[in-house]
Amino acid sequence: MLSAKPSDISRNALSVVAIPAFADNYIWLIHNGEHAAVVDPGDAQPVLDVLISRNLTLAAILLTHHHADHVGGVPHLLRHRPVPVWGPRNPSIGGITNHLGEGDHASVPEIGLVLDVLEVPGHTLDHIAYVAAQEGWVFCGDTLFAGGCGRLFEGSAQQMTTSLAKLARLPGDTAVYCAHEYTVANLRFAVAAEPGNSLLHARLLAEQTKRSHGEPTIPSTIELEKQTNPFLRNTEAEIIATLQNKRGLVSGKPVEAFAALREWKNAFR
Ligand SMILES: [Zn+2]
Repeated sequence: MLSAKPSDISRNALSVVAIPAFADNYIWLIHNGEHAAVVDPGDAQPVLDVLISRNLTLAAILLTHHHADHVGGVPHLLRHRPVPVWGPRNPSIGGITNHLGEGDHASVPEIGLVLDVLEVPGHTLDHIAYVAAQEGWVFCGDTLFAGGCGRLFEGSAQQMTTSLAKLARLPGDTAVYCAHEYTVANLRFAVAAEPGNSLLHARLLAEQTKRSHGEPTIPSTIELEKQTNPFLRNTEAEIIATLQNKRGLVSGKPVEAFAALREWKNAFR
C-alpha cells in the first residue's frame, strides 16, 4: 500500500552548518538533527563544540584534498568517535577508510545522504568534489571559490580549467559550498578583470554587506558563479581584452587566458 508519511519527508530534511575555523576556513557540517557528517575538518575542536552544543552524533568524515587545513582534525575526531572517512585516492592522507575517484559515490546512511564524486585536479592533484544531487549541493573544497578559484599548487592550468568546467556543468541552482571565505577579495579582483560586468558590481556590494554583518557569503550558486566569476569566464571578450591590455596576453586561447588570470590574481592586492 502506498502511503507517504510526514515522517518520511522530515527524515531526509538535512541542514548544512558553517563552522568557521582558522582565519577564513569553513568546515561544513551536514545533519538531520540527530547524526552529522563533516566536510574537511581541518580542526577538530570547533566541530566537537558544534556536535556537543547541538547534541549531534558524528557519522562520517568527508575529505576533498590533502592540505592540513582540510584534514588536520581527522585523528582527533576519530579518537572522539571512529567513523567512516571518505576521501581521495591519496595514501598520504591518514585515516581514510573509503578511497574515492570519478563516478564513485559516498553515502552516509544515518542521514540519508548520497554524494557523487567528481575528480577536480588543479589546486592539488588529489582534489575531489562531492555532489549531493538530490539536495542540489556541491562541496568543492579549494577548487571553485565564490568569485574565484584555488591556486595551482600541484596541477596545471589545463587541469584546473577542465575541473572548473566540470563544476560549471552542474545545475545552475546548485549551492556551492567552498572551503574559504575569500569572496570579497576575489570579487575585487574580478572587477579589475571585467569592469563592464554590472552583475559583478552588484554582487560585490551585496557580499560586502553580508560580511559587514558578520555573515558568510557562502553558499554561492553555480549560476551566480557563471555570471560573475572570472575563472569561469575566461572566454569573455572583455576579460581577454583586459588581459591583453594589462597583462601582455598574446593568444586568445581560453586556457592561456585562465593561466594569465590566475597569475595576475596571485599578485593582486
Ligand atoms: Zn587547499
